[in-house]
Amino acid sequence: MLENPVTKYPQPPFNKQPQPMPGLASKMDPVPDHGEKSYKGSGRLAGRKALITGGDSGIGRAAAIAYAREGADVAINYLPDEQSDADEVIALIQAEGRKAIAIPGDITSEAFCKELVSQAVEQLGGLDILVNNAGRQQAVDSLLDITSESFDATIKTNIYAPFWITKAALPHLATGAVIIATSSVQAYDPSENLFDYAQTKAANVAFVKSLAKQLGPKGIRVNGVAPGPVWTPLQTSGGQPQDKIVEFGKAAPLGRPGQPAELASIYVQLADPNASYATGQIYGSAGGSGHP
Ligand code: NAD
Ligand code: MG
Repeated sequence: MLENPVTKYPQPPFNKQPQPMPGLASKMDPVPDHGEKSYKGSGRLAGRKALITGGDSGIGRAAAIAYAREGADVAINYLPDEQSDADEVIALIQAEGRKAIAIPGDITSEAFCKELVSQAVEQLGGLDILVNNAGRQQAVDSLLDITSESFDATIKTNIYAPFWITKAALPHLATGAVIIATSSVQAYDPSENLFDYAQTKAANVAFVKSLAKQLGPKGIRVNGVAPGPVWTPLQTSGGQPQDKIVEFGKAAPLGRPGQPAELASIYVQLADPNASYATGQIYGSAGGSGHP
């Protein structure tokens, strides 16, 4: 039966629901759909070994569930405060009979980024898919109110960490491996209150386009995803002011935010060897507006 994408998922208004950063998916109202009950695999990533940062919740969790159902073993990274969300993901991966590796830690530390990759490689027995998905987004109305500490944390999380993690991973990536970045529509049409975040998401696009050229001859593909508004704890824990949470996604032509589950198949597609001519690309998913 055909589905109507407008009415398929919750529409605004939503309740205000502030949480301290980084927030938990389990405390959101409504709880996001990461594909727990809906995603069906068909062996597209059989035997692959994937590391997903921010794999505890949101878009990263949706990718983790889908990858496991497509036959991959999956390691996830997240902050220690997110252990309860991570536990749910680990259980879902194990339910598919796949290896599930939990590696909590703060990726704003270069030393931890190196440790993360070495643990993932050791416990998975290699690495074929790297998804740099973790992100920090804190809305601030005025440039004058962005502290150097906050600016630094956003740059460290969204720009330095993918650099450090990718640098550590590269010696382990064989021909046919893939790297996937989570950018944003903010890279192309930045909001006035996401001054620092939007710059990092533009940097993520340049990361993809530069590294794809560097690694193309080696047979390693590098792509990115540019989501529009997606219902995740990133947004409710300071990514948007609470009055914007009430109407979150309303401006999209579909009239609602995306759910993480609706992006999972894009992460699968970019990792799938059938997409072998896709490298240096940014795939959009924004409910009808936004770029690319
Ligand atoms: P999310 O909160 O579920 O995921 C973000 C994750 O980043 C957290 O779960 C956390 O584990 C991780 N993280 C943050 N700081 C960290 C740190 N210092 N160390 C280790 N991990 C850290 O939210 P999400 O929306 O699924 O975010 C995933 C990605 O999607 C981010 O890169 C975000 O910029 C991007 N994105 C989100 C939206 C949206 O509307 N939700 C839109 C465009 C892009
Ligand atoms: Mg989380």
